[in-house]
Formats: sequence, structure tokens, C-alpha cells
Amino acid sequence: MTKREQLTLMSDLRDDSFRRKQYKQWSPESDRDHCRGCWAKFSEIDSPGTLHEGNATTADYDQGGDYDWICPTCFNAFHEEMGWCLVE
Ligand SMILES: [Zn+2]
Repeated sequence: MTKREQLTLMSDLRDDSFRRKQYKQWSPESDRDHCRGCWAKFSEIDSPGTLHEGNATTADYDQGGDYDWICPTCFNAFHEEMGWCLVE
């Protein structure tokens, strides 16, 4: 995936705020999520290649808090270009 494709995937997250946190599953029906930028997998279940911590959208996001997740790698790579800020 190119950087441009990644930016397109994340385009609706521009200028949003994120909070660094442990991954918690969104609903009982959904035990995993993916990073919006690179599709890395988040899960509470310990399995190879799975992330347990990331950057989640906050309550300010139009879909709600913890709805979308960005992995630490993508956050570091794209936060300036995307205008992301990290809140406590
Ligand atoms: Zn990522």
C-alpha cells in the first residue's frame, strides 16, 4: 500500500483527536478492529501479529469514541499530515 492510498483510507479522520489506550472490543459481536491506515489487527485476544494498544477516536468523533483505531506506527507516520492530536 502506498502512502497516498493510506491517506485516502484515513481521509475522513482528518483533524480528529485520538487517545492512546488499550484496545477494548467495540461490541460482543466484534472481537477485533483494524487500523484505518494499514489494516493491522487489534484484538483483546493474544495472538501473533495482533496489537493490544493503539490510538482511538474520542467522543468528539462523529462516529463516537473508540470507533476507529490507528496503530502507533501509522499515528507516528501521519499525525502531522492528518492534523491529528493526542489528548489525555
Ligand atoms: Zn496502522
